Amino acid sequence: MQPTDASRPNARDAASASDPVVCPFCPLHCDDLLVDDRGQTTVDCEFAKSGFGNAAGDPSIRRGRKTIALDRLDELASELGFPDVPLVSLTSAPLNQSRRWMRLHQSGAIRLTSESTASTRALATAIRRDGVIAATIADVRQHADLIVTVGSIDRCTPRLRERLSGDRSVQWRSLGSCISATHLADLLMAVRHGSPVESNDSFNAQSQDPCTHLSTARYIAFIVADDALADADNVIGASLLLQLIVQLNQQSLDPTTRRRAVLMALDPLQSLKAVLGWNGIPLPMLGTDSTAVDIRIGNPLPESPPAKLQIGGRDPGEAIAEVFIPASQAGVHVADMVIRGDGTVTLPLQPVLGGSLSDPVTIVEQFIGTSAVTGTSDDAR
Ligand code: SF4
Repeated sequence: MQPTDASRPNARDAASASDPVVCPFCPLHCDDLLVDDRGQTTVDCEFAKSGFGNAAGDPSIRRGRKTIALDRLDELASELGFPDVPLVSLTSAPLNQSRRWMRLHQSGAIRLTSESTASTRALATAIRRDGVIAATIADVRQHADLIVTVGSIDRCTPRLRERLSGDRSVQWRSLGSCISATHLADLLMAVRHGSPVESNDSFNAQSQDPCTHLSTARYIAFIVADDALADADNVIGASLLLQLIVQLNQQSLDPTTRRRAVLMALDPLQSLKAVLGWNGIPLPMLGTDSTAVDIRIGNPLPESPPAKLQIGGRDPGEAIAEVFIPASQAGVHVADMVIRGDGTVTLPLQPVLGGSLSDPVTIVEQFIGTSAVTGTSDDAR
C-alpha cells in the first residue's frame, strides 16, 4: 500500500501548462517555468528538469534492497526502533507544511532539526554573533557592479546568474569554493593595506589582483553558496568573510573611495525558520557529530548521516536510508506557498502534476499516530 491522499484532485486546477509556475527545487524559486502535465519543462536548468522528471515517476516503497507493501505505518515505526519522540530532519520545507511541522514539534510528538553544510552553519553562527549587511536579489540586481561568488553557486542555484543579469554591466568574479581562512585573511589584509594578494582564483585569472576590483567597484555583492568555506577552519573563515565586508564598508566612509559591500545567501529553510521564528521557536541544527537521524524529509545533503527512514525526494539507496517512502512534493503534486531564499517574497506553489501520494507531514503523523495534531493539509492553507 502506498500512503495516499485520495481526496486530492489529480490535476492542476488553477493553472494550465501555458501558465508559468514557481519552481520548488531550489531556494531561488524561479517563477517563469512552463511545465506540461507529464512534468516536462523547457527551462534551461537541469536541476528543475530532473526534479520534475523524477516527481512524475512512480517510485516504490523500499526496505533494505526490497520493494515492500505497507499495511500499517505504525508497525514499521516500531520495527525500525524509533524512539517515542523521533528526530525529524529537514533540508527545506514549504510554508504550510512548516506550520504543521511546528505543531507536531510543539506538541512534543517529534523533535525537529535542520540539516545544512558545515560551511553554511559556520556562516550562520558568525552572522548571528557579528551581524552583516545583507542584500536581496532585487538589491543586487539593481545596484551591484561587482558580484563576487564564494562557493559553487551554479550548482546550488543554476539560474542565479541569469536572474541577476539586468541591463546594467556587471562584473562577475569568483573566489572559488572551500576557501581557507588563510586565503580570506590574506585578502582582508590586502584590502586593508591596498596591497596585491597572491591567489589562484579567478581574480588573478583576470590578470588583476582582487584589491583592484574591490577598490574600483561601487556596490560589491558577495554571493555565498553552501560550499563556500573549507571545513578545516570554516568558523574562522566565516568571521574573516564578514570582516572583509565590514572593512569594505568602512572604507566607504572616505568619500573618495565610496562603496557598499553586502552579502547575499539563499536559504532553503527560509519558510520553516520564518514560521518557527514568528512563534519564538529556534530551529536546532543537526550536530556535526550526529551519526544518524530517525526520519529525513526529502533528499539528503552530500554530507548527511544515514536515516532509518527517508520520506519524499529521490530514493537514495539503502546505505543512506534503510526505508524509503515516496511522498508528494509541494509545487509538483500539491499546492503550498514558499518564502524565497532571500526572505523577501512569498510565492505560490501549484500542483502541476497532481497525484495521490500523501504529503510528508501526513505520513509522519501516521507513523506516530498523531493525525489530530496538525489538521489536514487543506486546513493549513
Ligand atoms: S534555478 Fe532553482 S528555482 Fe530556478 S529553475 Fe533551476 S532549480 Fe528551479
